[in-house]
Amino acid sequence: MKPPRGVVVVGAGLGGVRTVARLRGAGYRGEITLAGAEPHAPYDRPPLSKQILTGHWPPERARFRELAGLDVRARLGVPAVGWREGVVELADGTELAAEAVVVATGAQAKTLPGQPDGVHALRTMDDALALRAALAGAGSLLVVGAGFIGAEVASAARARGMEVTVLEALEVPCARALGAEAGALCGRLLTEAGVDLRLGARLSGFADAATVELADGTRLMADVVLVGVGAAPAVDWLAETGVDAGAGLRCDERGRVLGMPATWAVGDVAAWADPLRGKHFRYEHWTSVTDQAAMVAADIARVKPPAPAVPYVWSDQFGLKIQVLGRPELADEVVPLHGDGFTGGPVRGTVAGYFSGERLVGVAGFGAPKPLARYRALVAANALRSEIPLA
Ligand SMILES: Cc1cc2nc3c(=O)[nH]c(=O)nc-3n(C[C@H](O)[C@H](O)[C@H](O)COP(=O)(O)OP(=O)(O)OC[C@H]3O[C@@H](n4cnc5c(N)ncnc54)[C@H](O)[C@@H]3O)c2cc1C
Repeated sequence: MKPPRGVVVVGAGLGGVRTVARLRGAGYRGEITLAGAEPHAPYDRPPLSKQILTGHWPPERARFRELAGLDVRARLGVPAVGWREGVVELADGTELAAEAVVVATGAQAKTLPGQPDGVHALRTMDDALALRAALAGAGSLLVVGAGFIGAEVASAARARGMEVTVLEALEVPCARALGAEAGALCGRLLTEAGVDLRLGARLSGFADAATVELADGTRLMADVVLVGVGAAPAVDWLAETGVDAGAGLRCDERGRVLGMPATWAVGDVAAWADPLRGKHFRYEHWTSVTDQAAMVAADIARVKPPAPAVPYVWSDQFGLKIQVLGRPELADEVVPLHGDGFTGGPVRGTVAGYFSGERLVGVAGFGAPKPLARYRALVAANALRSEIPLA
């Protein structure tokens, strides 16, 4: 079968831009249109909670450079509002016809019930610049949600000398990415940096944009409040398709969307079939988005698909890099491999191994890039515990 004559990519974030670049890299010569809701030149998101927030980078430095010279028609600043087979409709009435459509509309920050305007979120460049401006004149920050983004913002605020409180409903921070044992090390990073970390905190509401109320009656005030409780797939524009996409657009293992012919999805909006879990799953991490873009581009261009990569996630907080390789969520046991963080020693230098039975399914390192790198091949091979060299 020949490749399609034209591709419309909807969403000009990481997944959209990488799909375009990979299509051209795979030799695809058809017409490509990249449609994006934001008016800005496409940019990368990890720096938003790091170098942009701290002021170390100007916004332009987060821009993607890979579209230059790729012969792509860009329609930026106009959201897509509808899809039917072979056609994407934009808010200005334009209809973009394509034999292949790639949905890369990402996700939007979740809000809490009754969340007032003036409470910050962090998903877009505009969010990051607004938060940076607010922090510049503030003495205190309250973060609701101790995931990676909440912890990174807390880290930036502590570096400015601000008083920081972090509320987390679960009993450990960063639990979704790291599990309970290694999540507790994130908790130590927060508290050792002087953050007032309140675990098991139940938020009952907001009195105003600077005051939250907890279920136990406590009221907490701060100059700036940030809600970082995750992101929901950006699928409102697909409502009329009748496809159930609330938990992400369900795709097969090549990114083809179930129930939407000639349509693929990549990135935070997509829930790809996951044979290891036996269900569809949204990853929401930078490298999985780029891996999916490579797979989808190969499928559309009809070239050999890339070999599967070992999943990788990172977060920069409190002066060190947390790195996760593999699939910790599949583990039933976590074992210290390096360092003393699990026995009360320094968190820096600690590496945790995640095992499912006797098989290594993931590793997480805290400021330990060199030891961590040694495990990449072992994680890729799901090595047996007995095959892992002792530190
Ligand atoms: C602040 C922050 C920090 C992060 N840090 C890390 C990190 O350190 N490590 C890591 O592994 N991952 C990190 N991530 C996650 C990573 O950046 C995301 O997984 C990645 O950006 C997802 O790419 P995407 O293309 O799917 O979505 P996005 O990057 O969200 O791009 C989607 C684009 O589609 C547009 N869009 C939405 N709806 C429409 C529509 N109807 N029509 C047209 N366009 C539309 C949006 O405006 C957006 O520009 C971070 C994310 C954030 C928000």
